[in-house]
Formats: sequence, C-alpha cells, structure tokens
Amino acid sequence: MNERELIAQLVPQLPLNDRVIAGAGDDCAVIDLGLAADWVLFKIDATLEGVHFARDAEPRAVGHKALGRCLSDVAAMAGKPICALIALGLPAQFDPARVREIYAGINTLARRYQVAVAGGETSLSPDRLTLTVSLLGTVPQNHCVRRSGARPGDGLWVTGELGGSILGKHLAFEPRIQQAAWLRARFDLHAMIDLSDGLSTDARHLAQASEVGAELTAESIPISAAAWRRADDNASAALRAALNDGEDFELLFALPDSEHMALQAAWPKAFPDLKLTAIGTCTATRGLRLRQGNTLLELHEHGYDHFA
Ligand SMILES: [Mg+2]
Repeated sequence: MNERELIAQLVPQLPLNDRVIAGAGDDCAVIDLGLAADWVLFKIDATLEGVHFARDAEPRAVGHKALGRCLSDVAAMAGKPICALIALGLPAQFDPARVREIYAGINTLARRYQVAVAGGETSLSPDRLTLTVSLLGTVPQNHCVRRSGARPGDGLWVTGELGGSILGKHLAFEPRIQQAAWLRARFDLHAMIDLSDGLSTDARHLAQASEVGAELTAESIPISAAAWRRADDNASAALRAALNDGEDFELLFALPDSEHMALQAAWPKAFPDLKLTAIGTCTATRGLRLRQGNTLLELHEHGYDHFA
C-alpha cells in the first residue's frame, strides 16, 4: 500500500463537525470559528532531517523552510497567516548553536509576515532533528480560494520559474503570501494551489478537485535556470524538471478568460521582479495534457507519453 492509498482509507473515517468548511484535501483546513468576517485557516507540516533537508543544510534555511512550507499553503488559499506553534524533535546529542540558528531562520521569516510564534514543545527524537509547524491564518468568509473552483475555459497561470529547486530554492523560496492577497483583492480567482509536489502533480490535483481537465503548453512553461543546470542544458530534460520537480512553492491558479488582459497589464507594475506566465487552459475533457508544437501528449504524474 502506498501513502496515497493509506490516506484514501483514513480520510473518510475522520470525524468532522459543522465548524469545518473544508477538511482534508485542500492546502489548509478552513474552519468557521464564529468570527464576524473571517474564516480560520489551519495547517500543519512536518519538516524532517533526511527528508526535507540534509543534515549539513544551513540551519537558518532549515528554519525558513519549516515555517515557509506552511505559509505557502496559506498563500494558496489567499489567506493571511497569524500565528504558529512549533514542535521540535531533538536528537539526544543536539547542538544548541544549530537549534538557535534554526529558530533565527523561523523568526526572521515570521517577522516578515507579522506571524507570531505563540508557543510549541520539544521532545526527544532519537535519530534525527524534526520540526513540526502548525499555523493559523484567516481569510474573509467566502473569499478563500480553494482547489476546486476552476471551470473549462479558465486560463492557468503560474508565478515564478519552475524546476531544479533541489539546487537551493527548496530551502530559500519566498512564500507568495503578498501575491496571493493582491490577486484575490483584484481578480476573480477560481482555484489556486501552491506547487509543492511539482507542476504535473499539483496541476492534476487542482484539475481533479475542480472536476475539469487541463492542457498545458510546453513552450510557455517557465523553466528556471536551476532546471537548465540540472538538465545540462538539454531542453527536454529541463522541461521534465520544470514539470516534475517538487518544492517550487510557486502559485498555480485558474482565472476566467475575461480577466487575462487586465492581469497581464497589472502584474508587472505590482511585482516587477516576479515572473507570471499563462501556461495553459482548463478543459471540459478530464485528464492532463501537454501541447508541444503540433503534438498533444498525455501528462502523467512523473512523465508523459503520446496521447492516443
Ligand atoms: Mg499545498
């Protein structure tokens, strides 16, 4: 049994109550706590040595990533992060200077987005250092952007450049909190997700949740310099890296066609240093396809082949 099959068994058994607007299956849980104007976003992420960072990774960057992953999920729902709790798993022989530096990384990122670190706990973790971050945020009621609202004909847009994050960006990404809030305030975002598993996987998540298909245009996909480096400048390997590498932590969103021109005009003025690219369209036909020149390929989670 793989992880996905296990989750599919566990999720339907989870108890819910009438406070839960959205449970498992989106970037954050959405909870109605009875606030006058807002819903609460609720998120947890475990960041493990040997899985999400190497033992010799720069400790400030490790702290940045542990909190940044949660912030990226709040951005994906166009929310505002408020406060975090941190559970730290410490090996018996820990280096206090390293832990202080990890916290310096957490604190610097938290301050940048006015996020309080309101507590946490430490426990023994025999073989590796672990950081589990839980985050609360808010979003105006009925204005959180879910994965599930995309419609056929919507354009698909992505921030930044994709692929090759293992060469550094996975520890140094900037969560797109500001951009998501800006987009939500000005445009009719139909659906959004942050790219943690890779474009080909996360585009599928968005399309499936929305009960649509998607067609991506290979020539439009913004390939990062790191993806080119990782691919030794081989064009098809670089495209594969941009499609399949994880941890870009960029935003992928669906927007009605009628808003494309306005977005294209306004974005560069608001965010001159961050690329925004239209990479495809949502379709009534389910499944994920890649248009490359005159060829239409069926896109799998970790590769593609000819569309029959
Ligand atoms: Mg996510």
